[in-house]
Amino acid sequence: MENKSPIGIIGAMEVEVNSIIARLAGKESSGTAGLLFYTGELEGVPVVVAECGPGKVNSAVCAQIMILKYKPRLIINTGVAGGVGVKIGDLVTAECCVQHDFDTTAIGDPLGTLFIRREGRSEDIMKLPCDPNASRVLMEEARDIYGGAHLGVIATGDIFVADKEKNRWLGEKFGAKAVEMEGGSIAQACYMNGVPCAVLRAISDSANDDSPVDFPAFARETAEKSAELLIRAVRKL
Ligand code: SAH
Repeated sequence: MENKSPIGIIGAMEVEVNSIIARLAGKESSGTAGLLFYTGELEGVPVVVAECGPGKVNSAVCAQIMILKYKPRLIINTGVAGGVGVKIGDLVTAECCVQHDFDTTAIGDPLGTLFIRREGRSEDIMKLPCDPNASRVLMEEARDIYGGAHLGVIATGDIFVADKEKNRWLGEKFGAKAVEMEGGSIAQACYMNGVPCAVLRAISDSANDDSPVDFPAFARETAEKSAELLIRAVRKL
């Protein structure tokens, strides 16, 4: 039997979701907490799409509302990111996400360890899982269309990284291939609710000293690249 529950799609910025919203058949919208949720069919697949705003809190609130209100069978976060050892225009799909700015190391915890409540217990987790099947589909589609497609760790934090030392550190500490501000918080909300998730990012800048110039120059083009790829892949998800 066909699964009628929608696929959730979240982007932080308008450029990351507007081409998807424009393609929805039977589009309707409804608001909660100031966020607009668009429902409809994308390539014949039921979806719910939202622009969450940048950062971990905006994106976690959005994911939680989406989960409670629309019961998505999968949530995909699409958008742009800073590259860590990968080039502008490349695509990175998360094998898992980490929150690089969650830091209780001063009291002896490993960097990036989150303490998630599970029925009265605390679970320590650093690598927030992404759905292997959805990630594989997105990777295969990316490889078919574009040259640079990578599967790897995506590092999330409430900071726009524009510093080559921090970039090197993200690679060394976490094995990150991309850095952004929402994937790890959406993955956490999904994990806490038992909803599969995937994070797909096109590289808008190199998360170094050139980023203040590169990000505004490449954000639109790369955001649309990620959205286009998702539109092509949605029927296989
Ligand atoms: N003024 C902007 C804020 C964008 S913040 C606005 O209108 O919303 C940058 C966005 O791009 C975030 O959503 C983040 O996920 C992504 N991003 C791209 N390059 C990044 C980098 N080098 N470091 C962190 N996030 C980056």
